[in-house]
Amino acid sequence: MVNRIATRDITSSNKCDQCTALCCSYITQELDTPRSMHAFDVLLWQVAHKGVHIFKDGNGWYLLCQTRCEFLLPDNRCGIYERRPIICREHSHEACEFDAPVNDGCDLYFQTYDELDAYCRTRFKTWDKRLEKFEAGRVKRQR
Ligand code: SF4
Ligand code: SF4
Repeated sequence: MVNRIATRDITSSNKCDQCTALCCSYITQELDTPRSMHAFDVLLWQVAHKGVHIFKDGNGWYLLCQTRCEFLLPDNRCGIYERRPIICREHSHEACEFDAPVNDGCDLYFQTYDELDAYCRTRFKTWDKRLEKFEAGRVKRQR
């Protein structure tokens, strides 16, 4: 039988025991603010990969990779607790991923190629033409 605490009894001091280590299951990397079609085309390539998301919040643009830390133990505890990196030490369990998903509060959040492609189409009038332009340029370069 699974021993679970009723939702009303979950507090900041015991919630990690109920969590599947959501905070250790992804990484983020800040991105230069994308402005050009080329920059968005690169993001399109990245988000085409499974588990790679792109988001923008009040601090800027980020790449998010869903990947569990290799030091997570089967019981979802840290296997290198005494020598875990500073960023892990700075993470607070007071208001964390257990309380709200990462995409909560984001201005933009793209999980798929199609989502970002649709956004780019609204942002750039000539978005769909960029591929024709590139291919035409390739033909010329090969001459
Ligand atoms: S800090 Fe939050 S997200 Fe991380 S294990 Fe604890 S409850 Fe889960
Ligand atoms: S080092 Fe430990 S605390 Fe940091 S992400 Fe990995 S399992 Fe989590």
